[in-house]
Amino acid sequence: VIVGVASAPQPQERRVALVPELVKKYEALGAKVVMAAGAARRAHWADEAFPGVEIVPEPAEVFRRAQLVLCVQPPLDEELALMPEGSVLVGALQPWASRERVELLLERRITAFALELLPRISRAQSMDILSSQATVAGYEAALIAADHSPKFFPMLTYAAGTIRPAKVLVIGAGVAGLQAIATARRLGAAVEAYDVRPETREQVESLGAKFLDTGVRAVGEGGYARELTEEEKAIQAEKLGKAVGQADALITTASIPGRPAPRIITAEMIARMRPGAVVVDLAAETGGNVEGTVPGEKTWVGEVLLIGPTFVPSRMPVHASEMFSKNVFNFVSLFLREGSLALAWDDEVLAGTCMTHAGELKSERVRQWLG
Ligand code: NAD
Repeated sequence: VIVGVASAPQPQERRVALVPELVKKYEALGAKVVMAAGAARRAHWADEAFPGVEIVPEPAEVFRRAQLVLCVQPPLDEELALMPEGSVLVGALQPWASRERVELLLERRITAFALELLPRISRAQSMDILSSQATVAGYEAALIAADHSPKFFPMLTYAAGTIRPAKVLVIGAGVAGLQAIATARRLGAAVEAYDVRPETREQVESLGAKFLDTGVRAVGEGGYARELTEEEKAIQAEKLGKAVGQADALITTASIPGRPAPRIITAEMIARMRPGAVVVDLAAETGGNVEGTVPGEKTWVGEVLLIGPTFVPSRMPVHASEMFSKNVFNFVSLFLREGSLALAWDDEVLAGTCMTHAGELKSERVRQWLG
């Protein structure tokens, strides 16, 4: 079987779905790998770093030739159109984002595994791109906040006095939020954090941060957060408003699977922040937790800087690619054996991750998301 590594279409995307150390592992499963020239260059790997991989001049050739394509971003529709009927696509496919893409996958009878759909059971943890990339994003969010803050994060004593640690408030204590908390703590900030899932209290406290309790609990399907009612939103806003007003840096990471990000921080709360305060909205790409953040931009609102970073894992492309590629490889090893693709549909991980197969939409969640 020929495994193709897609080149991401966006220039801001620096990750790649294969790192050199995995080439031999794919070969051991009986695969031959093809990749376009320069596909890993933005993650600092030259073509020569991939011995055994056939380097082809054009990204399109990868889609034409491979029976299994690996990707860090959904391919363009014209690239999907090049894939042979019945071939397999594995990677981050943003299954909620485009009805046209799903229709094309159905029409081309492509078996598409969107790793965003991966069941979050313990056996699948080593394949979980959402967790690995959220780890990178959370770490980066804390660094972006520190970098743009006009204040030190740590407490410092110097010859003429003492500097108090910065106050960092983190909203959403999932994988990204917890990593942002841990990173801000390592930099010495005083951290406070909030989530609607009650079990996050212990996780937040174990990182040396303070849990901000608004009294609002909102656990929905599969242990994930659900959307809040209007009444809950009002209670949350009141409690959060005060904490936001005292923060030197606010990092927001809240999201609900398949839904636009919840709008938690209002313009009014931002107006109450201290001059020089920094806001990093990790949810900017999916609608934003903060009123006024613009994806990919830095915006001043009075003396408060709002940052809506995009392509965040690409800020650390080496380790983000390594983590992503290993997740993908672990997933692919479920069905790539002795050079052939053996899809065992009784495997709940495989079945749960499948978006389309043989012209059929296989995911109930995707059906709901696309309405
Ligand atoms: P996510 O990216 O979907 O959401 C981030 C956080 O935002 C979540 O903690 C959510 O509770 C929070 N949130 C949503 N709405 C909010 C609101 N209005 N106000 C405040 N916070 C809000 O979540 P995630 O990080 O991908 O995962 C969440 C949890 O799932 C993890 O912390 C973990 O417990 C669990 N998980 C389990 C596995 C597994 O394999 N068993 C793998 C990964 C994650």
